[in-house]
Amino acid sequence: MSLPLSKDAPSGAPPLPFSQLPLAPAVLANLEQLGYHSMTPVQAATLPIALAGRDLIAQAKTGSGKTAAFALALLARLDPRRLDVQSLVLCPTRELADQVTQELRRLARSQENTKILTLCGGATMRPQLASLQHGAHIVVGTPGRIIDHLERGSLALASLNTLVLDEADRMLDMGFFDDIAAVARHCPPQRQTLLFSATYPDGIARLSAQFLRQPEHVRLESQQ
Ligand code: ADP
Ligand code: MG
Repeated sequence: MSLPLSKDAPSGAPPLPFSQLPLAPAVLANLEQLGYHSMTPVQAATLPIALAGRDLIAQAKTGSGKTAAFALALLARLDPRRLDVQSLVLCPTRELADQVTQELRRLARSQENTKILTLCGGATMRPQLASLQHGAHIVVGTPGRIIDHLERGSLALASLNTLVLDEADRMLDMGFFDDIAAVARHCPPQRQTLLFSATYPDGIARLSAQFLRQPEHVRLESQQ
């Protein structure tokens, strides 16, 4: 059976299979089931770096498959037996946080009992506080609400191993620099930080200088 080309594969470059990556067989089988037969260019460029535990700044346009690029990395490191927050994904809006959560749930199907919680502003506090009491492995949320939970003590990031800043340029446009900085200060210093952005404004360089450790830069333009 011939595999269809990834819809994002640049013309001329052969599509790369996910099986090139150090991913568990169950994860690879789930990707096939989802119809993810090969990596998109941003996935091919970033997953080897992210899976190796390096910090990363990735610049690629909307629709290029950035969610799976960080999701597969953080899921690979997740220990489901420890019910504490091991990954945090910051997103600019509730809508984007919901989309990331949906994609994470699809990609985590092969890893039973993975608990993913979405914590966004605009939603009432009480159900979020109740959910947090049951614990979560992965939290996806907007910066203001995450800070709120950190300050109340309802969210602890002492066990965090991966911090993702998704759509970082949009978060900066929305004035979240200080909130992102405050969240990063609550994270253990030896964590991995993955930053995804469609553009590279000054604020990204400032964030990177303060909160990323010798990041690899990946930039994909006009390919897709
Ligand atoms: P971005 O965050 O870069 O805007 P998304 O992560 O939302 O992009 O992905 C865009 C779409 O591409 C989603 O519908 C997702 O399911 C799909 N997708 C991601 N990776 C692959 C892949 N390797 N093969 C096929 N479809 C993919
Ligand atoms: Mg995205």
